[in-house]
Amino acid sequence: MDPKAMFKLSYGLFVLTARQDGKDNGCIVNTVEQVTAEPLRITVAVDKTHLTHDMIKATGRFNVSILSELAQMDTFRHWGFVSGRDVDKMIGVTYSRSENGLVYLTDQTNAYISGKVIQEIDLGTHTLFIADVEAAEVLAPDERSVTYAFYQDNIKPKPAPVKKKGWVCTVCGYIYEGDPLPEDFVCPWCKHPASDFVPLDK
Ligand code: FE
Repeated sequence: MDPKAMFKLSYGLFVLTARQDGKDNGCIVNTVEQVTAEPLRITVAVDKTHLTHDMIKATGRFNVSILSELAQMDTFRHWGFVSGRDVDKMIGVTYSRSENGLVYLTDQTNAYISGKVIQEIDLGTHTLFIADVEAAEVLAPDERSVTYAFYQDNIKPKPAPVKKKGWVCTVCGYIYEGDPLPEDFVCPWCKHPASDFVPLDK
């Protein structure tokens, strides 16, 4: 089996937001799918270690902001590489609120969708939330949605061409200087494991 076949699946990239007890939070996900049209229904799989996961589980509500190709690396760092447990993720963010009171992004975003959870499936590391669409709006009809492939090719920083021994994170571009990479290494930026690193000289 070649697990790299999974990289051929196409994904969008989204900021998933939730609100609980007056606190807003969000994280980056690539797992939003429309699964039925009547009724309009979507799914999202969320890592159980994310604060946003616990907030959706508690409140049954979330918003999906669909990132466009205008999305900047700082946006991915902001929503993807730090936890809402450590920082207030709403600082410095341009946003509005949908009917459900939750935040959606108005910058680098071409649409948002509000979901109401109707079922959860425990996937081990993640929970799959199945949700009815309660509201949805197009914000920028001419901006293309960003895909994971576009992010890899055009947004993620390229490693500098230096002849150092080291490893680079294929998810976010973080460089570990040194060799070998410890087996239990976890990327300090995106929290992905050593298996997502490749040698710098490859
Ligand atoms: Fe990383």
